[in-house]
Amino acid sequence: MKPERLRTRIIKPFDPWGSPLCTCPPKLSLDPYTGCQHGCLYCYASSYIRDFHRCRPKRGLVELVRRDLRRIPDDALISVSNSSDPYPPMEGRLRLTRRCLEEFAERDLRILIVTKGDVILRDLDLLQELRAAVTVTITTLDDQIAGRLEPEAPKPSRRLEVVEELTAQGVPVGLRLDPIIPGINDASIEELIKEAKVAGVVHVVSSTFKPRWDSWLRISEAYPEESEELRRLYFEEGRRIGRSWYLPREMRLRLMRRVRETCEGLGLTFATCREGMPELHTAPSCDGSHLIPMRKGSLK
Ligand code: SF4
Repeated sequence: MKPERLRTRIIKPFDPWGSPLCTCPPKLSLDPYTGCQHGCLYCYASSYIRDFHRCRPKRGLVELVRRDLRRIPDDALISVSNSSDPYPPMEGRLRLTRRCLEEFAERDLRILIVTKGDVILRDLDLLQELRAAVTVTITTLDDQIAGRLEPEAPKPSRRLEVVEELTAQGVPVGLRLDPIIPGINDASIEELIKEAKVAGVVHVVSSTFKPRWDSWLRISEAYPEESEELRRLYFEEGRRIGRSWYLPREMRLRLMRRVRETCEGLGLTFATCREGMPELHTAPSCDGSHLIPMRKGSLK
């Protein structure tokens, strides 16, 4: 499949701005919603999506998905979502992501869901029917930190329950430990990975915080004390790559090695996201798409 040649409207080739640091396999991307309700301070999607925090459904979503699916070959990988969360609280009422999954279920596609939302548990029946895997983002076990960093998202303990329930029902789950922000959520990485393993994750993809102008403003306002050191690390010692600022490479390497060593000790596979460190990866894919079952309905 050459996704870039597909003339589609809403299921688009995943294009992380042509970043040489992205190691994702070729895939398509669908965001059922524009914007997101979870309000994560570190979110980068708010830098390129207008009015990001006013989450709204895509107009004519299901019709557009149906139309695009006519052009998409079987076995294509569709990632849901990359610039929003497919399970914001309003999905409980609107059921749009569910309707997309129902359309996918008519086909033999590979589906990767990326979420923090517990509404996903409603769709267990479809996830078992599809060729699907899920990555759940958890950045800390501490409710206070999470409450400040991701104010509207389910608590970390609830996300662990989501992992537990999905894996108990046979749906493969990876952990997105993303982003790690030094001085804010890096202290208990090891405990977080251990808890995630107990809940059932088999793969971890991790990344350091890469601020853009608006996410930097939000973080520095919420964490005035920590922001002095972060300012030095990012804007004096770090470097800008594309539209994002990166920590010094040595520091990113140390953090990613910490995650990798913990994963190795627990028998989990590991990959980084947009760090330019594919040599650290122990998994066939970074995003967790290798967890997707070979055959439809194999989980039932
Ligand atoms: S869940 Fe994802 S898309 Fe939504 S605000 Fe948080 S980081 Fe952004």
